[in-house]
Amino acid sequence: MKHSDFLVIGAGVIGSAVACGLLRKSRSVTLLDEGGDALRASLGNFGLVWVQGKGQGARRYAEWCHEASEVFPEYAQKLQDETGVDLAYRKPGGLTLCHGEEEYQKRTQVLARLKNESRHGAYDCSMLRRQEIQQMLPTLTLGPGIAGGSYSPHDGYLNPLALLKALHTSFTLGEGAFCSGIAATNIYHEHGRFLVTTSKGKFSAEKIVLAAGHGVARLAAMVGMQVEVHPEQGQLMVTERTRPVLSMPISGIQQTAEGSFIVGLSKREIGFNTDTDTRLLKQMAQRVVNAFPALASLRIVRSWSALRILSADGLPIYQQSESCPGAYVVTSHSGITLAPLHQTLIADWIVDGVQPEEFESFGTRRFDVEKTA
Ligand SMILES: Cc1cc2nc3c(=O)[nH]c(=O)nc-3n(C[C@H](O)[C@H](O)[C@H](O)COP(=O)(O)OP(=O)(O)OC[C@H]3O[C@@H](n4cnc5c(N)ncnc54)[C@H](O)[C@@H]3O)c2cc1C
Repeated sequence: MKHSDFLVIGAGVIGSAVACGLLRKSRSVTLLDEGGDALRASLGNFGLVWVQGKGQGARRYAEWCHEASEVFPEYAQKLQDETGVDLAYRKPGGLTLCHGEEEYQKRTQVLARLKNESRHGAYDCSMLRRQEIQQMLPTLTLGPGIAGGSYSPHDGYLNPLALLKALHTSFTLGEGAFCSGIAATNIYHEHGRFLVTTSKGKFSAEKIVLAAGHGVARLAAMVGMQVEVHPEQGQLMVTERTRPVLSMPISGIQQTAEGSFIVGLSKREIGFNTDTDTRLLKQMAQRVVNAFPALASLRIVRSWSALRILSADGLPIYQQSESCPGAYVVTSHSGITLAPLHQTLIADWIVDGVQPEEFESFGTRRFDVEKTA
């Protein structure tokens, strides 16, 4: 049996960031991942470090994303220096384009609400008309249907596979025990310790972190927690490479450092289904061409889908078990954006019990309140 102070189940971007954070405080951290065919959002996402538009009706979440974006440049630089992995992180600000006046008016209302909900009206994102956006994107002509859009200086993007690789490298360099290809099957809480049976032997730990993405609900139930997450499918496609023409990420459209365009504009609730739908891909491609007619000639070279991991209200769940103290659930959408906070504030909470401000917004009790209401 392998014993450690901390055992993290799930080596996606969330479990890996938390595990790296725990290593700052303890040399004894094990990170388990089943690998193989498991559904892994960290391998199929869009790679935005994104603030604008997030957190309507949930001020703390809007702030949480903003705080992550503020520390991201230093975080990315440190991780890159330590591991030698180029994250291709850039923070030029980001745009959301509005196709037609109706979308423009709706977006204006969304931002006005976010501004109203923010502390001291400090929400920093502005609506721009078509010409102003065109000036920001001088090398790519906007289609005639673009009425304008929103711009936030806090947004950026990176290569999400590189981020995951860097986290795994950092964890291993820090002498964490990375056990891949091992599925946790059962968890027992005995004499204040956790015993985990797996596909390859037993593990024990003083504290256990469940960051298993879509596998989290099953494991959480074993330590007395009711956690519900559901899948939302997103489809992505990537084009052949071309010269650099798009200098900032747009919600759903970006050009990578290598020159490919990645398009990710869909949301479907169709259960645990990762099939791609060509009709939907066509609609997505059409929307891109409507925004930038010059991209019509680019060939699509690959498409895939991945499943977002969403709680009932779309916000993170950070919760310690009440019946089995020492067991924690950490799951969230926006796991790329929030990586620096998972590595620092969430790891510190697990080690020292110090809770970030207004932490109850992210606990499971909020669902009890909703049910009672
Ligand atoms: C289409 C799409 C686009 C997205 N775009 C963005 C974006 O632009 N920006 C952003 O910030 N976020 C984005 N996200 C969200 C982001 O990808 C997720 O929040 C993040 O990847 C979740 O990471 P995770 O570690 O919780 O989950 P996962 O990556 O799913 O990892 C969970 C891990 O747990 C392991 N596991 C499960 N059960 C067990 C078990 N029993 N034993 C051992 N291991 C187990 C699995 O093997 C898996 O590796 C996007 C997501 C999708 C699907």
